[in-house]
Order: sequence, then C-alpha cells, then structure tokens
Amino acid sequence: MESNINPHGIAADLFEIITAQREFFATGKTRDISFRRQLLINLRRMIRDNEGLILEALRADLGKSYTEAYMTEIGMVDQEINHTLRYLKVWNSPDAAATPYFLWPASSRKYHHPRGLVMIFSPWNYPFLLAIQPLISSIAAGNCTILKLSEQSPHTSRLLCELIDKYFDREYIAAYTDSFEAVKAIRWEPFGLVFYTGGPTVARIISKAAAAQLTPVVLELGGKSPCIVDKTANLKLAAKRIIAGKLLNAGQTCVAPDYLYVESSVKEEFVGYLKEYHDRFCQASPTENKFYPKIINRMHFERLKNYLGDGQIIFGGEVNEDTGRISLTLMEHIKKDSKLMTEEIFGPILPLFEFSDINIVINTLRKRPKPLALYLFSNSKETRKNVLENLDFGCGCINDTVMQLANPHLPFGGVGESGTGRYHGKAGFDTFSAESSVLTSSSHFDLNPFRYPPFDDNYGLLRLMLRYLI
Ligand code: NAD
Repeated sequence: MESNINPHGIAADLFEIITAQREFFATGKTRDISFRRQLLINLRRMIRDNEGLILEALRADLGKSYTEAYMTEIGMVDQEINHTLRYLKVWNSPDAAATPYFLWPASSRKYHHPRGLVMIFSPWNYPFLLAIQPLISSIAAGNCTILKLSEQSPHTSRLLCELIDKYFDREYIAAYTDSFEAVKAIRWEPFGLVFYTGGPTVARIISKAAAAQLTPVVLELGGKSPCIVDKTANLKLAAKRIIAGKLLNAGQTCVAPDYLYVESSVKEEFVGYLKEYHDRFCQASPTENKFYPKIINRMHFERLKNYLGDGQIIFGGEVNEDTGRISLTLMEHIKKDSKLMTEEIFGPILPLFEFSDINIVINTLRKRPKPLALYLFSNSKETRKNVLENLDFGCGCINDTVMQLANPHLPFGGVGESGTGRYHGKAGFDTFSAESSVLTSSSHFDLNPFRYPPFDDNYGLLRLMLRYLI
C-alpha cells in the first residue's frame, strides 16, 4: 500500500502532488488512449483560449514580438499537438519484430507502456515551448507529469502555473517552480523519467539526484553549434538564413549558429551580404527596436557585453543598458582562449573565422565537444559527404539554419556534451514510453528439442542451429 508519510521533508505541496499522481497513475486511467487524446485536446484549448495572455507573458520575459512568439513557441506547440493526435494510435500500437527460425513457431512484438510519474525541467529561453512540447509527448505516452518551470522567466512560468491548475487536475498534470525542492524530490522519490532542458551544470546536479533512485534521465543541453559556408554556397541566401537564425530570440536559442567558418576566397563578399541582411531585418537601430528580443536578465546581459571585448567588431556592437538589448554583432580576430570561444555564446554575437581547407575545419571541430547543431552551406556533394561522415552533432541543416526543428518527423536532441535522448513527434512518444519486448510462442507446436535438458548429447546440432537458423 502507498504510504503518505514524507520522511525526507520534501515540500508539502510537492509531496502532495507526487502522492496524488502516484495514486492516479495506479488507477490505470492514463493507459486509455481516449483519455490521453482528451488531455491533448484540453491542452490545445488551454492554449487557444489564452493565446493573448501567453504572448503578453513572453513579451514581458523576453521582449518577443507576437509574430516571433507565435512562430517559435505557440505555433510549434499547436503543430505538435495536432501531429500527435493524428498519429497517437499508430505510435501506441505494438511494433512487430523479426523472430529467428530456431524459435518458430512464434511471433515477437514491442509494446509501449507509460513510464509513470515524469518530471520535466524547462528553461527560460523558450519558456512556453520547452515546457509544453515535452508535456505533449508525456501525455501521449500516458504519464502523469510535473512541469518544473524556470524561475528566470517569471511571467510565463506564473501564467503556466495558473493555466495548468485551471485546465487540469493536479493528479495528472501539475506545474511547479521551486528548483531546490524539485531536486530533493527526485533524490528521494522514484520517477519514471526526468526530462531536463537547460545548461550542463544543473544537468549534473539533476543526473546525480536521479541516480539515487535509478531514475532514467533525458538531457537536452546546448553547446557551441558551428556554421560552415564554403565558396560553392549560394552566399546571399546563406547570409539571409544565418542572420535570420541568429536573430531569433536575440541568439538565445540552443540551436542558434554559435560561430561561423567562411571560405577565405568568398569572405569579403559574404560579410557584405551578412551586413545587408542584418540591416534589412533590423531596420532601425536594433537596440531601440521593440520587435527585437531583449537579453533575459542582467547577469546574461553583462556576460554578453564582456564578450564584445574578445575580438574585433565587424558590425553591430550596440548595447542598450535600459532596454537590455544587444545588437547582432559580427566579430573576427578573436583572442585565443577567450570566453567567447570556450563558452556557449547564447546571445546575438557571431564570431567569424576563415578557412581555405575544409579538412582543417573538420579536424578542428572533431577536437571540440560534440555540438547540438551543425549548419553547412555548400553545393558541393563532396563537401557535404565529407562533413556529414566525419563530424558528430545532434541535428542540423544543409543550406539552412534552425529549420530542422520545424519538422516533427525529425527527432531532436544532442549527442555527448550536448545531451542524450530524443523527442519531437514519434521520437518524443518513444522517449516518454517504456518498451516491453514480448515473444509469443505457440502452445500447439514444440519444434525445438535442443532447448530442453539433458543438454550434453545435442551440443553439435545446437551449435549449427544457433549459427545458421537465425
Ligand atoms: P535555466 O536557468 O532556466 O535552468 C533550466 C532548468 O533548471 C530550470 O527549470 C531551472 O529552474 C532549473 N534549475 C536551475 N538551477 C537549478 C538547480 N541548482 N537545481 C535544480 N534545478 C535548477 O536555464 P539555463 O540552464 O540557463 O538554460 C540555458 C541552457 O539550456 C543553454 O546551454 C542552452 O543551450 C540549453 N538549452 C537547450 C535546449 C535544447 O532543447 N537542447 C533548449 C533550450 C536551452
């Protein structure tokens, strides 16, 4: 029987949620596909009914324009809900697996089950999208979910707490903001999954806490995502798409291009296009532009301002202390071992390097931590093959930036230091599900005598069978 005693002093409100969710999960209601579908429909209604409030909260936290907020947060979530509602039944049906001859007659299947209680940690940079998108997968997989929202985006987190409480019962979906208590809870309570999006320092704290209960952890982290432009690229379009990708959320995007490698022979022409598109997209001074997002807080603003001294500015470099905005800044001649090139920039600064041999770029990048994203602008088949076969990264684009996220059929996640695990679409459903592998044997035929003791006489035949009847 479940005990409601709280021996480890987890905050009473959080402990109450955990206990209620555990009891609710045990009723088996979330295993019903129509219940999950109804929750997804409620979630879509919650979002559509409160779109204006969500847009306002995102503007208050990050200064995002309504169009950008809709395109990169609300619209993505709406698309993910519709995609999930469309495919949920198919994803949830058992997957057939092959069965070796020596097991015949039999069939094999993989069944999907909910993991149970899930805690989702979301960060401040896309505070709506990165909370709700994993929640969709968690609901689809039939879990009970606690959303641990970021304290750094207080307007969106507060609104989400209110909306989740209004539209859902806490026994299957609850929102919470206290990081300290959340870590304490995962240290002492077993969860089916902890899904974390954020930086590597907190990822280590959370992984360590979860390890105490052997709770599996998915880590969606970041890192320095390179962007390479060679002389065969459509330079104008490359400049347009790189500037657009970097301007999103003022560079506070985990998959934003972090730094650029440009082939020397086209550098000058390419920098001209970068400037042209920057001026065209930003119109007036970017730091005065109310449609251009601000830096989340003073600490990050100061950190980014300090990077501006780490090299030579080609264009940009404007900072507005009052509005917390920094213009998109292209830099070159970066000081060796400067923080600009050892830390993830996570802001509107773009260091530029030149190259004349792609193999040197590949060798340099192979020595760095594996990035979350990689972007290559090239029309050379040989270069594309060379880069794709020789570099490891979580996701990326050829001849574009960031748009890989817009395809719900492409799994999203990092590799090595940029994270573990995948989500979005079916990959999200799979990550938030547990899989049971089941072999169903015939009860009418029993064709394999060698599996039964005594074993000694059948050694030769058994060996042949296992070698060739697979
Ligand atoms: P953050 O400060 O919002 O932290 C992430 C989550 O951890 C939040 O819920 C926060 O409340 C919680 N947290 C903070 N300190 C904690 C502590 N001591 N103990 C427990 N929980 C704590 O976000 P951040 O870490 O600044 O996020 C930025 C990083 O996230 C960047 O590296 C970025 O690349 C990465 N990121 C990755 C993705 C992705 O999808 N892979 C998306 C967005 C951001």
